[in-house]
Amino acid sequence: MVIVELGPRCNNRCVFCAQAWERDATAPVVALPEDLRGERVGIVGGEPTIQPELVSIVAAVRARGAAEVIVQTNGRRLSYGRYVGELLGAGVTGFDVSLQGSTGPMHDYHTRVQGSFGQTARGIRNARGAGVRVVVSTVVTRSNYRHLAEVVEVARALGAGMVRLRAVKRVGAGHDAWARLMPRPELARPSVRMAVQAGQRLGVPVVALAQGGEPIVDWVGGPEAETGEQGPRGVELTRARPARGEDRTGGARTGEALRDILPGLFGEEGG
Ligand code: SF4
Repeated sequence: MVIVELGPRCNNRCVFCAQAWERDATAPVVALPEDLRGERVGIVGGEPTIQPELVSIVAAVRARGAAEVIVQTNGRRLSYGRYVGELLGAGVTGFDVSLQGSTGPMHDYHTRVQGSFGQTARGIRNARGAGVRVVVSTVVTRSNYRHLAEVVEVARALGAGMVRLRAVKRVGAGHDAWARLMPRPELARPSVRMAVQAGQRLGVPVVALAQGGEPIVDWVGGPEAETGEQGPRGVELTRARPARGEDRTGGARTGEALRDILPGLFGEEGG
């Protein structure tokens, strides 16, 4: 996979962000390889969607022959349906969206942006409604590890095809707040296992990825666990279906239940 980095700037301020100290950095000049025939390309930040050039960069990547373009994003700008259409029109084939909780307060606590949960949830729904594949990535912290199975349920209800659980990186804000962020493995292990089981029940693969030697893989064990950080190349996005056509019975949350969990999400479409 070819990774295109658009710099560390972001419209979230996550408590664990590995790039927090570079928030005001200017966007780099992106030099794309001339020949990307058949390649899978991952576009990462910071937050790629706040870069005005993203649509044209995606188009340029596809014009050079890339087979797939996956954008790693916090999903907030995907709440604007028109913008999702522009990205898909340029050639995006998948999104890797960070979702840090199963409720607004839980997610917004991590991003430190009030209302970000509603935007991210709408963004995932918009992307799935437009037919593009979505994987959800969640950083496991002391503040969300008890709710990982619920994160999987919400991700599934929004249409995600996979959930990736990631360890806190001990760099940047993650370094500064390490003691507050990193759960004790013996406490988190059962919750990670329950999240994997929830994924099995709902038909959504849940993988736990290690980063920097941190012990998420050890927490889970078994065939579901991946062996190390894979980045977008490890994303298998083959199981997602259009969100609006999903059967949410058989243990998944009902629409009424989601109305309670996701206030503000229903009845409000992206612009
Ligand atoms: S969304 Fe990603 S880049 Fe942005 S603040 Fe959060 S961790 Fe950092």
